[in-house]
Amino acid sequence: MKKAGAGFKSRIVLLGPPASGKGTQAELIKARYGIEPTSTGAMLRDELRRGTEIGIAADELTRRGQLVPDSMVIGLVENWLSARDGSFVFDGFPRTLAQGIELEKLLLTRQTPLDAVFFFNVSQEVIRERVLHRVTCEECGRIFSIGLQVAAENNPCPVCRGHLVHRSDDTLEALEQRMNEYRQKTEPLVPFYREAGLLVELAAAESPEAVFSEISTVMEAA
Ligand code: AMP
Repeated sequence: MKKAGAGFKSRIVLLGPPASGKGTQAELIKARYGIEPTSTGAMLRDELRRGTEIGIAADELTRRGQLVPDSMVIGLVENWLSARDGSFVFDGFPRTLAQGIELEKLLLTRQTPLDAVFFFNVSQEVIRERVLHRVTCEECGRIFSIGLQVAAENNPCPVCRGHLVHRSDDTLEALEQRMNEYRQKTEPLVPFYREAGLLVELAAAESPEAVFSEISTVMEAA
């Protein structure tokens, strides 16, 4: 694992449309710098696996490609932050302006402001391709692309041999709705973070290695 220098950025938000590569980059950041990614989507799926009230309520909305209420995810993130040391990589949070403002408040109280927001800029065509080929491991939660890291859908997870599944919201119908939600509710965070001087725009259609190289250059810059 790489050692962090003085200006190292360890409070990060990954912002972008569905399937723009946020989860993949969060895994690469973890492997290089040891910061555990925090995905509110994965938290909600975990709540559902455990059969909690929040998980069941969220699943109804998620299946339809809708965002869950701000209060639901803010509660999860607040609990998460309280149990951690101040480093984080948020994948898929914040997803609304209200969540962005709430996060700012939570971090202000803890005196741990954001260091950078990576914006994954990618075309609609690339997103469609990625969604249709994406599978997730039920056991370890890692994401793979059929035809790239795994040959066929019924193969086991290449990392832990777990069962690979398509997410219930990775359909073209749900994607359309998720893109609408993204444009209406999430995209306003782009100018919000640009004005705050935190936005770093990534050419997210490039290979995972090329995108990660841009990210690590920024994270390690003094
Ligand atoms: P993801 O795994 O990040 O693509 O999230 C899957 C689904 O979980 C989203 O389509 C939403 O329904 C829900 N979700 C995840 N994170 C958030 C969030 N920050 N705000 C609202 N809904 C969320």
